[in-house]
Amino acid sequence: MRHLRYSKSGHLMREQRRAAQRPSRETLVRAGVIVAAVTLPTLVALVAPRRDQRPLAPAAAPSGQVLAALPPPARPEPPPAPAAPPPPELERVEARLADGEALSTALQRSGVGADDTSDLVRALKDHVDMRGLRAGASFSVVWRPLVTGARELVRVELRTLSGEGVPRTVLVEREPAPITQPEVGARFLTRHHDAPIETKVEGLSGAVRSSLYQSMLEAGEEAVLVNKFVDVFAWNVDFYRQTQRGDEWRVVVEKRYAGGRFLGYGKVLAAEYVNAGSAHRGFLFDAADGMHAGTYDEEGNALQRTFLKNPMEIARVTSSYGMRFHPVLGKNKQHQGVDYGAPTGTPVWSVADGVVKEARFSSTAGNMIVVQHMNGITTEYFHLSKFADGIKAGARVKQKQPIGLVGNTGTSTGSHLHFGMLRAGSHVDPAKQKFPNARPIPKEYRDELQRFIAPLLAQLQALDRA
Ligand SMILES: [Zn+2]
Repeated sequence: MRHLRYSKSGHLMREQRRAAQRPSRETLVRAGVIVAAVTLPTLVALVAPRRDQRPLAPAAAPSGQVLAALPPPARPEPPPAPAAPPPPELERVEARLADGEALSTALQRSGVGADDTSDLVRALKDHVDMRGLRAGASFSVVWRPLVTGARELVRVELRTLSGEGVPRTVLVEREPAPITQPEVGARFLTRHHDAPIETKVEGLSGAVRSSLYQSMLEAGEEAVLVNKFVDVFAWNVDFYRQTQRGDEWRVVVEKRYAGGRFLGYGKVLAAEYVNAGSAHRGFLFDAADGMHAGTYDEEGNALQRTFLKNPMEIARVTSSYGMRFHPVLGKNKQHQGVDYGAPTGTPVWSVADGVVKEARFSSTAGNMIVVQHMNGITTEYFHLSKFADGIKAGARVKQKQPIGLVGNTGTSTGSHLHFGMLRAGSHVDPAKQKFPNARPIPKEYRDELQRFIAPLLAQLQALDRA
């Protein structure tokens, strides 16, 4: 059952994505419905003895695994009144922009005269990014035959995307010269309508076979969602090293659509990652009074973790991070850490949870320990006299767990600890790093948090049972 549901939801999502990526195909289908007798891209002027389409009809809602819908963020602009259907004698051509084709070329290819084309392009400029017009943008041109045997352009409707990717319909209509002032001449009036943006809350889930990334793509989602999901658990799960086959992910996330087209993800409201059988859950909480926001688990613990300011109890910084005169090497050198003067034998602790990457002797760093933490941070502890029991490569350490004792080993002129920190592989000044507030939710917000996350937790759990 579960497998079926996943593949179904993945299939739906992929279909939407395909449709979004290839508006040309969608447009072709639509054009085929509207002008059944026309085979595109061959252009045939039709003397259409039929009703015109309603040009600004609202788009159908997209399908998907929708659990609840939020109201759209802003009141959508009311669509302009649909134009009256043209009398049967009007001529109409449906066309679409070819790859790399300018709109003016496409208009003339469709039978629009040079003068009308330049008037139209001018009329469209404020409503359409001409350079951003993509192949597949479609348009229709409507003419009215004149008694002279010539014809007069009445209306052009262009269907394209706004700069934000929202489906946009632009209507250019000829306004005849006023009867009382024929010398004014005709002019084109332009207006446009964007499909309203809808934010939907969707529940998605999957199981990891090779990587979380692969699993989310297989579910029809985009790489951006992987980043958003990983961010929730950045302090709890090392997705590069800890991910295992059979891990499960569930997420309740906002997704924005317009005219059936997927625009992007909003906030991750709730997420669960079952890593090697143990579940991590996070809920985005926003207190009603606006004073507390953050990602918490069901017990109100912050998902984010912080780092201790110092790697030992009583410490005196004897050399801070940055350029300094190196006492042993006798020259100026960048100091890639902070030195703490302390007697030999003072316990040194890990500033955060992590895994020991190295615990060995080096001729310069002496007895050294390197600890790998979450979120791409590594810490270094040099010149130790001794390692604590069990400290070796691969050992797990907790925040504030003693890992060794201060010493004077390696290139060192006195008993001290050299403490270094790397972010994404580069040394940084530990004193200047900003770490998140990792305190649990205050007591007075506990009940509100519980009420807030109850429906989200139910949504996550519903993803199990379906
Ligand atoms: Zn140092």
